[in-house]
Amino acid sequence: MKKETQCIHEGYYPKNGESRVLPITMSTAFRYDTTEQVGDLFDLKDNGYFYTRLGNPTIAAAEGKLAALEGGVGAMMTSSGQSASMLSVLTLASAGDSIVCATAIYGGTFNLFDVTLRRLGIEFIFVDFNDFEQVERSIKPNTKALFCETLANPALRVTDIQKISEIAHRHGLPLIMDSTFATPYLCRPFEFGADIVVHSSTKYLDGHDVSVGGFIVDSGNFDWANGNFPSFTTPDESYHGLVYARDCGKAAYITKARVQLMRDMGAQASPFNAWLTNLGMETLCVRMERHCQNALKVAEFLSKQKQVRSITYPMLKGDPEREKCVKYMGGMGSGVISFELENREQCVKFMNSLKLVSLLVHVADLRSCALHPASSTHRQLSDAALAAAGISPSLIRLSVGLENADDIIQDISDALACVK
Ligand SMILES: *Cc1c(COP(=O)(O)O)cnc(C)c1O
Repeated sequence: MKKETQCIHEGYYPKNGESRVLPITMSTAFRYDTTEQVGDLFDLKDNGYFYTRLGNPTIAAAEGKLAALEGGVGAMMTSSGQSASMLSVLTLASAGDSIVCATAIYGGTFNLFDVTLRRLGIEFIFVDFNDFEQVERSIKPNTKALFCETLANPALRVTDIQKISEIAHRHGLPLIMDSTFATPYLCRPFEFGADIVVHSSTKYLDGHDVSVGGFIVDSGNFDWANGNFPSFTTPDESYHGLVYARDCGKAAYITKARVQLMRDMGAQASPFNAWLTNLGMETLCVRMERHCQNALKVAEFLSKQKQVRSITYPMLKGDPEREKCVKYMGGMGSGVISFELENREQCVKFMNSLKLVSLLVHVADLRSCALHPASSTHRQLSDAALAAAGISPSLIRLSVGLENADDIIQDISDALACVK
């Protein structure tokens, strides 16, 4: 099946007389006739449901759809993108291990790694993933994975997935990619060598700004028995001595993520949120196509305005990421643009003059929205501190929605006219 068809049909296959639309199974537990049946579920001999923290039919449908879209062997839905990133790392790394991570990543992921997981004893080495030599030099004997984003939020850098995955594999390490901004419609990182994909489904997968969620997807391609991952090749005493790399076939990683980490941490999605996310994913392809078309039109308009000092959009002519965007994302730049006006005051004026485009701490929504980090998320920082964090005080991040492009452009044009 092609992606458009997968979006609609994968994950839920109603039998004769069953509900055409995915039902919401809002139940914590599942009933069985015999205790032997329950035992088989615990032993993973049978794959039914017994408790929603570990599995639920509605959650499983959303997981099946995304796994199919990414071309993976299995997926696990989580309560948020943050918990997906956290569990993706904790499934393969412990205190004393290190992860080599791109500097251009989502701020929430940076805090999770640099503060909270570092506090638990995992070292994160942040490097520029465009500098392949530095990436390779940063790998140490205790390194367990490389982590980066397909299209980085908010830097809008495109990762050279082939190059980075080659480096990871040369050292017997998996490449984990946060593919939130690309979505499987624009890019399937597994086709270029990535091993694990994580998503914040809060963004384009849901797409309607209604539910927070996340996913981890396993390609099934990585060899966990290569000697670098003892926790996959020695018995898990907390799970009846299961040896993931031996007993779980290609799904070793995603099984461990679920039966060990999800069991212990309980960061599962609500079946209702899984249902909303599944509904959003059904229209992912048509929405992404329009997000990309609209964003390109808006970026082209902005690039011609005298008040705009600089602009970043991966598919704009002259953008340094354009070639990689064509190679890895089919020449579609997703829906987010960043641009600079002359100074902080101009940005405040511009933001306050927007009418259709809403001021929102969010991206990748069907409604166009804009954020000025210097006056909102990063307002406590001085211009100097902002510069140190790599954020210009005059930077605006614009998430282009699904309204008519002419209306979006008119609103931006009117707001720019208020800026001297
Ligand atoms: C928003 C976001 C996250 C965090 O996701 P939540 O669902 O908000 O927890 C992670 N990665 C990227 C790239 C994001 O944009």
